[in-house]
Amino acid sequence: SRYDIAGLKADLDGIQLIDEPQVVRKRSRDFFWYSPILNTELADKSADIIACPRDEAEVVRVAAACARRRIPLTVRAAGTGNYGQAVPLEGGVLLDITALTGIEWQKPGSVRVAAGARLLDIDMATRASGFELRMHPSTKRSATIGGFVAGGSGGVGSVTYGGLREPGNILAARIVTLEEEPRILELRDDAAQKVNRSYGTTGIITALEMPLAPAWPWIDVIVAFDDYMDAFQAGYEVALADGIVKKLVTPISAPIPSYFGALKQHCPEGKSILICMIAEASLGPFKAIIGNRGTTTYEAPSEEGPGTVPLYEYTWNHTTLQWLKSDRSITYLQCLFPHDRLVESAAEMIARFPDEVLAHHEFIRFGGRVTASALPILRYSTPERLNEVIALHEDAGVMIANPHVVSLEAGSRHKRADADQLGFKREVDPYGLLNPGKMASFTASQAK
Ligand code: FAD
Repeated sequence: SRYDIAGLKADLDGIQLIDEPQVVRKRSRDFFWYSPILNTELADKSADIIACPRDEAEVVRVAAACARRRIPLTVRAAGTGNYGQAVPLEGGVLLDITALTGIEWQKPGSVRVAAGARLLDIDMATRASGFELRMHPSTKRSATIGGFVAGGSGGVGSVTYGGLREPGNILAARIVTLEEEPRILELRDDAAQKVNRSYGTTGIITALEMPLAPAWPWIDVIVAFDDYMDAFQAGYEVALADGIVKKLVTPISAPIPSYFGALKQHCPEGKSILICMIAEASLGPFKAIIGNRGTTTYEAPSEEGPGTVPLYEYTWNHTTLQWLKSDRSITYLQCLFPHDRLVESAAEMIARFPDEVLAHHEFIRFGGRVTASALPILRYSTPERLNEVIALHEDAGVMIANPHVVSLEAGSRHKRADADQLGFKREVDPYGLLNPGKMASFTASQAK
């Protein structure tokens, strides 16, 4: 290693460390293998050592030691990110944050938790008093709240509350800086957005304060349609109906459901489907909107306990995973459709890439408007064709967050890698040690 790992070990005496190369290599990976491009690019990246702090005081010790010895530090939580966010590009320390769990306090409408807490555990605890997180990724059963805030964007619940970037969806974050004398900062309201989707480059999050939503009794529903655009239109109407309480509205085109394993029995051959999570009290009005356009094939209370596969594990980026289980030749895109000509734009993309880009959409609110994001399945041929398909989407007004690149700026043209995050990074990580290589604008400014 190019770093003084022996010296670091001495500094961290008493903190659990793992340096077995096989374990370190394995834990230095995430779900980047979804991308054939990242799969080649990141194959041989690995940390030198894993540090497993038990509490914030130990996080501070690890941060101080890394700063003094100029050793890179990459935070890893559950490692379910898709773009190598948790892969240490420059080696160094992988900081496993998953021992920092537990709820600090809960009030009606908000909760304060340690950053390594699993999303499912948080919901199970808050539901006892009738609340739940406003949104979660489809990886809820394994992912952590810190990983979601630092690496994710939104998911189940975003049809009602928008994404994490919407004001009010992250109330506060507590971070440890990467300095020789690490500081602990509390970021509130707007300032909390400085750690949202910055891939752990703007401080080590140790605690988060998140807003809660009412925990409705959710009903999982599948409706089958002959034509995909009918499923899309019906879903759009449900998403627009403010009086219908919902958490998930996901149209999925044939033949994708034929890859749905256990769920296949509820997905008639050749049909497109609409997957929804609807509050029990809203089921009647929901069915009235669907009318006789489609046939309900499944309806049951949502379940996510041990031994069950929740319905949402067929939506968002789990749709890709379900297909990858039996066929590794595909990959995916990440799209945001224009709200002002949504149906036209969705139909246009389907017509333009028949059999190459397979549609499934996620209705969401974005900036106060109902629109659709999508993680369509792409039958992969070459990197050149992939880039061409991306460019053709952008030319047609569909925004792409490219999931085949490692830096946050390259991946999110419509998101922020803004001056605010860059300026903040200089304050909290003056030596550029936090997840180096992920914030390209910072790397470029260092080179000057
Ligand atoms: P990790 O993957 O471990 O980390 C993610 C990033 O956050 C890394 O850059 C890491 O360095 C950083 N990080 C983690 N913890 C901290 C911390 N405490 N302090 C500072 N930085 C930290 N994402 C969505 O937004 N919505 C979805 O619906 C969704 N669906 C998915 C479906 C599948 C099948 C897969 C594989 C991924 C999906 N994702 C989705 C991506 C990912 O699962 C989520 O973003 C998840 O919340 C990441 O949490 P994690 O604990 O696994 O984080």
